[in-house]
Amino acid sequence: MSVERLPTIFFGHGSPMNAIEDNEFSRTWANMAANLPKPRAILCVSAHWLTEESKVTAMAKPKTIHDFGGFPRELYAVEYPALGDPALAVETVDALLPTKTKLDIEWGLDHGTWSVLRRVYPAADVPIVQLGIDYSQGARYHYEMGCRLKVLRERGVLVIGSGNLVHNLAKIAWDKMNEDDYAYDWAREMNDTFKSLVAEKKDEQLIDYEKFGKNGRLAIPTPDHYFPFLYILGARDKDEPYTVFNDKAFAGSLTMTSFTFG
Ligand code: ZN
Repeated sequence: MSVERLPTIFFGHGSPMNAIEDNEFSRTWANMAANLPKPRAILCVSAHWLTEESKVTAMAKPKTIHDFGGFPRELYAVEYPALGDPALAVETVDALLPTKTKLDIEWGLDHGTWSVLRRVYPAADVPIVQLGIDYSQGARYHYEMGCRLKVLRERGVLVIGSGNLVHNLAKIAWDKMNEDDYAYDWAREMNDTFKSLVAEKKDEQLIDYEKFGKNGRLAIPTPDHYFPFLYILGARDKDEPYTVFNDKAFAGSLTMTSFTFG
């Protein structure tokens, strides 16, 4: 039996409030499932699970992790009861060889995962496995791990990354949070650069993000939210068609720009 190849998606997730707010970003997420084949399971690389070695969640019932501070009580009350998929965890370990990946039963679903997926699959009826980002490794490692995940797309798995291309919390323009598409010049410029490099298939330049200079350092002061994008870049084929969505800035120093490949 052949299974339709699933797309692979990078989500800009932005504020955890997108999990409960009805806004342009969350509405886009809510409309996505209608245009996707129903996956057997989801493998998510979230910016919010940084590890010291390669790990994949292998519990049957992952808990909802509220890994943020200072938000309304309503957000802490959100539970996302999607099941895990221990068999997919083992399959992922195999796919990632020769990197040795450990099965983890401590983590769960962090908000990088559930803030988006509760909108895409509100019934929580697709099992989810998270792959940790081994933060002791550099950009090329993460891109190559993404390349190895490609095979899962052939087996009914939706491989997604959740982060932000431009992500500088220290520079957030708190007074512009309600202004549509407000970006600092450097944030706009870097967002355009990222999109151009994807269009031109210049993966090497995207891997070498540390060479982007001053604006690059402002856009990616730390790579936690950028690395999930490299997984998805690796998991796509260069000749696959793709679409850009939620291509907007938020509060000056974040961009929500997202890609569906395939
Ligand atoms: Zn985040």
